[in-house]
Amino acid sequence: MALVGCAECGKEVSERASQCPSCGAPVKRPASGAGGLLKWGAVVLVGVIGLYWLIEANDPTREQRLMDREAYQLCQKMAVSTGNPGACEGMRKDYWAKYNREP
Ligand SMILES: [Zn+2]
Repeated sequence: MALVGCAECGKEVSERASQCPSCGAPVKRPASGAGGLLKWGAVVLVGVIGLYWLIEANDPTREQRLMDREAYQLCQKMAVSTGNPGACEGMRKDYWAKYNREP
């Protein structure tokens, strides 16, 4: 059974005691402090990972947007080669309506 110094009165107190018998101050346990830090580290880590997944999941338009842009660019290539550059104007307008930006 180890003894620790009381933070308030300086007397030696059993580290198993929850408070100092002479002054009633709570006893600090060094081991539980380190354990608490580890626990907080784990909580923060889980939080960061969870946030990352949440952000990824919250952007469902990203993949669709890239596909739409690819389709538009393909359409434009074909339109230019067939001498009808305005053929994809409708797709471009749809893209603007959906994503509010230039494809
Ligand atoms: Zn004390």
